Amino acid sequence: MTTLKDQLNARTDSYDHWALRRRYGPEGHNDRSLWVLACMDERLPVDEALGIRVDSPAGGGDAHCFRNAGGIVTDDAIRSAMLTCNFFGTKEIVIVQHTQCGMLSANANDLERMLKEKGVDTENLTLDPTLPELKLDKGGFAKWIGMMDDVDVTCMRTIETIRNHPLIPKHVVVSGWIWEVENRRLRAPTLDAKVRGRVPDVRSTDFGVSQNQPPRWV
Ligand SMILES: [Zn+2]
Repeated sequence: MTTLKDQLNARTDSYDHWALRRRYGPEGHNDRSLWVLACMDERLPVDEALGIRVDSPAGGGDAHCFRNAGGIVTDDAIRSAMLTCNFFGTKEIVIVQHTQCGMLSANANDLERMLKEKGVDTENLTLDPTLPELKLDKGGFAKWIGMMDDVDVTCMRTIETIRNHPLIPKHVVVSGWIWEVENRRLRAPTLDAKVRGRVPDVRSTDFGVSQNQPPRWV
């Protein structure tokens, strides 16, 4: 028979291990050995969309979660994925982007122009004052903003880019998904018009953006 004393010992040992996880390198992985890349949008509930609990309850924690505008590849997303996959035992990456994304709602060239009108010198910016070595080539600012033409295409290319990145080990399983904000439903990224037709806003043209974004994938 297991006594309560045994159970409480096991529980406190397990909690100690949880609290000290990062000391154990790959052995101290999160519960699902998972890294999530998701858009920062408040209408994308990561736990509900994926059926996981990212950072709760205490003593649990299914994933490391990285959120940025769009849930796209950026140098900091790659930095975080590199750390968790190479040193903290992560074996799977899940990307979540979504319909109605703000990153579809304007053209990046217009956003850059608006910043210039506010007096920002977008040609000579130190993006990260703690890392002045990180620089954009002239004319790269609008591309850096990372606005999208099409969320499904962006999701598919995000999967491909992360899968092929030299800092991400080949054994890591990578998948990407679209959260339909309108239906609270997850689906795979697709170009199938019938599936995409369930919700209206998956392309920037649906938001009235007439020009293509500065291409980020070439
Ligand atoms: Zn978004």
